[in-house]
Amino acid sequence: MSGDDSKQEHTVPRVLVAGASVAGPALAHWLRRRGAEVTVVERAPELRPGGQAVDARGVAREVIGRMGLDAAVRAACTDTAGAHTVDADGQVLETFRADDDGGDGFIADIEILRGDLSQVLYDDTREGVEYIFGDRIAGLAQDADGVDVVFAGGDRRRFDLVVGADGLHSELRAMVFGPHERFLRHLGHVLAFYSVPNEFGLDRWLLEHQDQGSGRSVLLRPIQDATRAMAMFYLAAADFDVDHRDIAAQKALLRERMAGLGWSAPDVLAHLDDTPDFYLDQVAQVVMDRWSSGRVVLLGDAAFSSSPMSGQGTGLALVGAYVLAGELAAAGWDPGAGAARYESRMRPFVEANQEIGRLNARTRDVPGPDAEPLPDFTGEWFMELVGRAINGIELPDYAGVPDSAAPAGPPVTSPAGP
Ligand SMILES: Cc1cc2nc3c(=O)[nH]c(=O)nc-3n(C[C@H](O)[C@H](O)[C@H](O)COP(=O)(O)OP(=O)(O)OC[C@H]3O[C@@H](n4cnc5c(N)ncnc54)[C@H](O)[C@@H]3O)c2cc1C
Repeated sequence: MSGDDSKQEHTVPRVLVAGASVAGPALAHWLRRRGAEVTVVERAPELRPGGQAVDARGVAREVIGRMGLDAAVRAACTDTAGAHTVDADGQVLETFRADDDGGDGFIADIEILRGDLSQVLYDDTREGVEYIFGDRIAGLAQDADGVDVVFAGGDRRRFDLVVGADGLHSELRAMVFGPHERFLRHLGHVLAFYSVPNEFGLDRWLLEHQDQGSGRSVLLRPIQDATRAMAMFYLAAADFDVDHRDIAAQKALLRERMAGLGWSAPDVLAHLDDTPDFYLDQVAQVVMDRWSSGRVVLLGDAAFSSSPMSGQGTGLALVGAYVLAGELAAAGWDPGAGAARYESRMRPFVEANQEIGRLNARTRDVPGPDAEPLPDFTGEWFMELVGRAINGIELPDYAGVPDSAAPAGPPVTSPAGP
C-alpha cells in the first residue's frame, strides 16, 4: 500500500499491533472478530519459543473459553500433578497439588508453556491476520485521523490505531511515553528459563530447591515432551545490569551466581551451552499513569507487567486483549473513549496482581538486618487480595458489539523483512 492510497476513505479500522507473543495474537483474535483489519509486527524472525509454564486462572480461563480455544489450550497443557520442594539433597520438604484451591492454587489447572500458548494463539489467528516477522516500528507520527508508521525494513504505512504488545522492554512505550527508567520497577530478582534433557527422572511433578540463605533457587518442571524438562533459576540480584538481549553475558552471570547451589543445580547448569532456548530477565513491573496516548495504546507487559512473581502476566494479557478490543469496538473505534474504558476496567485488576507480584518477590528477598517483617499471609486480607487478582474484573459480554467468528480468509503472512 503506498502512502497516498493509505489516506483514502475507509470504513474498516486498521490496527497495527507490535509483538507476537501472548498479548499481540490474543488482541488480533478479538480485533478481527470485532471487525478490524489487523497487522501484527514481531521483531523476532519467527514465533519465539521458550519460557516456563504460564497459568490461566479465573477470568483468564473464561476469556480462553470465549475465544473458543479451551480444547486447544488444554491439549497443549503441561498436565502437572503438583510440586514438591526439596532440600539440597533432594529430600521432599513440602507438597502442593494441582487440584488445591479448585485448580486456582499455586499450580493452576490450566498450565501451559509460554511458547506453546503463543503457538496456539498464532495458529488461531494466522489466517485473516497479517503477520510480519523480522521487522519492527522504527518511527511513527500521529495526527487527528491516523498514525503514519515507518518500519525498520523500510515500509511506510498508515493505520487508525497502533497497539504496543511488545513486552517489558517495549520500544513503542519508550518512543511514545518516555524512557524505560520512568516506568520499570525492578523487584531485585532475576529469573532464567531453559529446557534441558530429562535426565532427572521427572514425571508429572515439578521439583524446586530453594536456598533461603542466598535467595537462590533451581526448579525443574515436567513438560509434554517427557524426554525434556524446563529448568528455572532464580536469584536475588538488586545490582542486575546485563543487557536483556546479550545472551552470552547472561549465561556467564548465571554460571557465576549459581556456583555452589545444591541439589541438581550443577547438572542443570551443565546444559547452558546446549539448550535450544534460553531466556533471562530481571523480575520487574511496569507502572504507568496512562496506557494510551492518542492513537497509541499499550497492552500486556508493555503497559502493566506484574512480573513472573505474580503468576498472572499471561492472564492480564489475555483479559486485557478481550477488554481492549471490546471497548474500542463499543466506542465505534474512537481511540480516546475506547482506551479510557479499557483503562478504567483493567486498572483495579492490574493493581491487585502487581501487589501479589511485589509480595511474592519479598518472600524471596535475602533477609538483611533491617528487613521489614513479612506480612501474615494466613490472614483474610491475603485471601481477599488473591480473589481480586484472579477474578477482580467483571467481563462485559459486549452484546451489542459486532462479533464475527466467521471463517477467516486465506493466509496473508508476509515474508520476513531484513
Ligand atoms: C521468550 C519469552 C519467555 C518468557 N518466559 C516467561 C516465563 O517463563 N514465565 C513468565 O511468567 N513470563 C514469561 N515471559 C513473559 C510472559 O510471556 C508475559 O508476562 C505475558 O505472557 C504477557 O505477554 P506479552 O505478550 O505482553 O509480552 P511478552 O511475552 O514479553 O512478548 C513481547 C513480544 O514482543 C516482541 N517484541 C519486542 N520488541 C519488539 C518490537 N520493537 N517490535 C515488535 N515486536 C517486539 C518480543 O519478541 C515478544 O515476542 C516470557 C516472555 C518471552 C518473550
